[in-house]
Amino acid sequence: MPQEQNVPSLMVAVVGAGPSGYYAAETLAKLKAPGEIAIDILDRLPTPYGLIRAGVAPDHQSIKNVSARYEKTNALEHVRFVGNLSLGSDVTLSDLMDLYDAVILATGAGKDRMLGLQHEDLPGIYGSAQFVGWYNAHPDYKDLEPNLNVSSVAVIGNGNVALDVARVLAKTAEEMAGSDLAAHAEAPIHSSPVRDIHILGRRGPMDASFTPKELTEMTKLVNAESVIDATTLPAGDDGLSTVQIKNLKAYRQMRDSAAPDRLKPLRVHLHSYRRPVAFIGDGALDAIRVEKTRLTEGRVAGTGEMLDIPVGLAVTCIGYKSAPLEDVPYDRRHGHFSNEEGLIRPRLYCTGWARRGPTGTIGTNKPDAADVSNRILAEVTPSGKPGRTGLDALATERGLKLVTFRDWKKIEALEEERAEGDHPRAKLADIDAMLEAVDTDTAS
Ligand code: NAP
Repeated sequence: MPQEQNVPSLMVAVVGAGPSGYYAAETLAKLKAPGEIAIDILDRLPTPYGLIRAGVAPDHQSIKNVSARYEKTNALEHVRFVGNLSLGSDVTLSDLMDLYDAVILATGAGKDRMLGLQHEDLPGIYGSAQFVGWYNAHPDYKDLEPNLNVSSVAVIGNGNVALDVARVLAKTAEEMAGSDLAAHAEAPIHSSPVRDIHILGRRGPMDASFTPKELTEMTKLVNAESVIDATTLPAGDDGLSTVQIKNLKAYRQMRDSAAPDRLKPLRVHLHSYRRPVAFIGDGALDAIRVEKTRLTEGRVAGTGEMLDIPVGLAVTCIGYKSAPLEDVPYDRRHGHFSNEEGLIRPRLYCTGWARRGPTGTIGTNKPDAADVSNRILAEVTPSGKPGRTGLDALATERGLKLVTFRDWKKIEALEEERAEGDHPRAKLADIDAMLEAVDTDTAS
């Protein structure tokens, strides 16, 4: 006899099936007795896991293992993934507020911040959301077609995204063999004549937000030598944090391995105290103009000393902002929803990058999840909302094709089946192809 299930009373929608959405759903579900709460995790894509799929570098597969935890969340009673449902076009926020007792926006920060420089709209200049999205097979950026037939690239910013971009461009096909680099990016990257990658930091090497593991990886590239100006490094470890000491070790390794006889065909130049001031080109990017900087009381100040670095491609890795949503107050300065510790207004919450901006690691979303879950349980009273039955009825009425977790597993199975060699999967980048995979009868 099938086991009788509790009838949930509290109906919650989490918008965004990335790490912050999944941690919120898991925490909330576990704070209640099994089955007392029903949670729908909605995503505009037919695929779950957000940045784990489309942001984490394709050669960092071990980081992606965290999706096994999210998979378990899908197995919790009354928790379900609902893909291919776009807030804003398929449903409005007011629809969701009518259907659910509480709505959590876990929509991340998917838009690139701009430098605001002259000629930033020249072809050949991309934000990291676009460029990383392209090589990670995000449907929004599958047709980006960046021209990698260039010899020199600028990567702007001194965070881990800058290192990801430089590393993916610098690694050989063999080094990327176990990755899930998008098929459409393989040939352009691996046949690219790029010889110089310039990573530009506006402050010093010890001010960079690189993490030691990622920085150390730059010393181990088969075909690429990482180059640092030794005069910018401190002589000793005094006053440095543990992370800085580890980063300094990696920088020293770069400095010490830079003997001419050990030079590799590709160089990754880690520039410090250089800020971009203009892009130069007529119809296409030719160079980036950078100004030498110094720190005055911890603030970046220009010195007036300029240098033009010839580059045919530039990727800005200077952080992200959330896409604003109609009827949701937005903090323009910080690029996320205006909120007070996760609360936007009664019954409407936010978590993750949509709450605090694009900082921290995947695990940083856990405390956010705890905050927002505790708030919801303390502040929201179940009021007989229809929840998922109401959403399903609305979807039928509007002719929407919702994607279930089981449907996603079909997409995943096809991606794994298509994988060649050591690649764990060959990602589908096209939404129609994903929906076709859902409709394919795999039982036959
Ligand atoms: P980030 O760590 O905040 O780095 C952004 C960089 O852009 C900083 O160096 C910043 O310089 C620079 N920047 C900002 N505005 C600028 C401007 N106008 N001109 C020049 N430079 C400018 O951001 P991120 O690299 O995008 O990473 C986002 C988050 O994801 C971070 O928490 C990161 O650690 C995480 N992440 C982790 C991994 C991993 O663990 N493997 C991989 C990727 C991303 P200032 O410091 O001077 O402001």
